[in-house]
Amino acid sequence: MLDIRHVQKIYEGKDRSVEAVHDLDFSVAAGELVCVVGPSGAGKTTLLRCVAGLLEVTKGEIRLANEKVTGPPEGMAVVFQEYGRSLFPWMTVRQNVELPLREKGVGRSERARLVDEALEAVGLARVGRSHPWQLSGGMQQRVAIARAVAYEPQVLLMDEPFAAVDAQTRAELEDLILRLWKRLNVTIVFVTHDIDESVYLGQRVIVLSNSPTVVLDDVAIDLPGERDQVTTRSLPEFTRLRTNIYQLVQLAKQQNPAARA
Ligand code: ADP
Repeated sequence: MLDIRHVQKIYEGKDRSVEAVHDLDFSVAAGELVCVVGPSGAGKTTLLRCVAGLLEVTKGEIRLANEKVTGPPEGMAVVFQEYGRSLFPWMTVRQNVELPLREKGVGRSERARLVDEALEAVGLARVGRSHPWQLSGGMQQRVAIARAVAYEPQVLLMDEPFAAVDAQTRAELEDLILRLWKRLNVTIVFVTHDIDESVYLGQRVIVLSNSPTVVLDDVAIDLPGERDQVTTRSLPEFTRLRTNIYQLVQLAKQQNPAARA
């Protein structure tokens, strides 16, 4: 579904350039949920922006369903960390969720159906007429998720979406994502710096090196498909995987394969 082929991204500045991503190469199959972890500054956000068609790659290419990404693709939706800034405060919750559907040209009754369904799915059916600023942080992030889901994307990109909410809300939102993923059969790329979160959610975890970034490892998460916060996190296999990935990320902080090459 998604091919990241030898992607390099250099930010060109006035008097200096920063190579944020050196050479990233991996694929995500249709219906997969893949997490991307790596140290802060590793280029995770840069990668997602390139995949979302918001930034141009310097070298290599990104393909969505075999089509080269050259701008924001139709079949993609993104949920950012800063939900506060991604929702329009002057619009109601419904209007926020509806906006991309209007832009896509979806007719009025179909729009209403999709918005109802998405708000129901994230547990916000009752607050459609509220404005985002009347809701808690976790609820605002649910609105952003509903907006992405209503759009019926083939691929959902999430950039540290739960970094700014409290631990309890975060656990609830993680489970919400797992439920939606199973129900909608959507392909998800989930960027996080939280290793436990990546193991809990992912079918695979891609570990990035320090910047300039390469893929350090691609770890299969062979935990049972049915996950829950208590049982899954207490499995010996969960501990083994998180330790393994933690060590990889520590290694990534200390040394950089691209710099050595
Ligand atoms: P992460 O999301 O993993 O924390 P980022 O993608 O935000 O990493 O950043 C990767 C590197 O690229 C960092 O060194 C950062 O300073 C640099 N960078 C990010 N955005 C820009 C920009 N607009 N201009 C120049 N450098 C940038």
